[in-house]
Amino acid sequence: MSAESELKNGNFVVNQCIDCKKTVWPPADFCNRCFGKTTIKKGPSEGKIIEFSKNDQCYFCLAEFEKEVKIIGKISSGIPKERQRVRIKKCGIKEGNYFFEFLLI
Ligand SMILES: [Zn+2]
Repeated sequence: MSAESELKNGNFVVNQCIDCKKTVWPPADFCNRCFGKTTIKKGPSEGKIIEFSKNDQCYFCLAEFEKEVKIIGKISSGIPKERQRVRIKKCGIKEGNYFFEFLLI
């Protein structure tokens, strides 16, 4: 099972380097620090908003889940604030791109 197929099925996972333990995001078969092979681990459950914007009545934000895991996603409902905490409500792959929806917490 690859990280990509897990994400496609709605499971938020990231890759982690087997050798140096670095979290690798976006998913890749090899570590971007030491070129070691990566394995899959469950993604961090909570993140925080770094910045957000409004587009067509929808809010989108860039959220940081761990130092290495920064994700752009749509906010499912509510009005976000900077540094507000979020959880991943949905993830998937849409037209070849990762798709994320966040829940404000
Ligand atoms: Zn590594």
